[in-house]
Amino acid sequence: MPALSQADLIDLNHRFEERTPQELLQWAHELFGDRLAALSSMQRAGSVICHMLHTIPIRIPVLFVDTGVLFEESLETRDRIAQEYNLEIRTLTPEKTMEEQTAELGVLYLSPDGQKQCCELRKSAPLDAVRDDYDALIGSLRRADGGQRGSCPIVSVDPRLNVLRINPLVNFSDEQMDAYVAEHDVIINPLHHQGYATIGCNRCTTPVMPGEPRRAGRWRHLGPWSVYCGINPTDLDPSSSPSIELSQDLIDRILGRTTDYMI
Ligand code: SF4
Repeated sequence: MPALSQADLIDLNHRFEERTPQELLQWAHELFGDRLAALSSMQRAGSVICHMLHTIPIRIPVLFVDTGVLFEESLETRDRIAQEYNLEIRTLTPEKTMEEQTAELGVLYLSPDGQKQCCELRKSAPLDAVRDDYDALIGSLRRADGGQRGSCPIVSVDPRLNVLRINPLVNFSDEQMDAYVAEHDVIINPLHHQGYATIGCNRCTTPVMPGEPRRAGRWRHLGPWSVYCGINPTDLDPSSSPSIELSQDLIDRILGRTTDYMI
């Protein structure tokens, strides 16, 4: 099967820098059709993506990983978005409940190695169930979130799921985000109004104090705040030269190559 590497996407990423999020969403939908889904954890940026899908409109499923230890507010936000934005939310769950996992492996999230294992079991592994269902996934990463997200490309390859990841909000500034949310009265996870800059599992997320980095509230109990869960390929080692396998026709269309059928 032909391969598409991250290096192959350099020109495309360069061209896409000038595109609006809505243009990128339309490009993805025209190219991938029903082989396209979105992935959201129902944080502010994910809500904006869901609102854009609703208004364009683009009818694709939204994948939501319920780790079993999410805040009630996140589940309520998911349900409101599904109903009011008329979106199909596909909820994915880990194989075991947190109680079953803890009985077997202990309280994993209290140590750095355990956190990696817990995030693998409860966040990454559930996505494996849809590995063959899609060729591309829409995400909601933004460079303004800082840390490793500060250099996030618009399109990237995800070898684990063998999909193209597309992040249309990469260039959306905090000001643009605030303006979009206010103008369209976007449904927002209420925890964002209670000091939570980012929102994940209830075991590993706290509010942040004024002046702290946005991700300081994630895995605070582990010390360094720059921990990532690995659910996004951009959180992984960028030096690994990743690639995915797709049909040559699809690769050509992704890269905007024209095929001369007159030969
Ligand atoms: S964020 Fe915490 S509780 Fe959630 S999967 Fe990761 S380590 Fe486990």
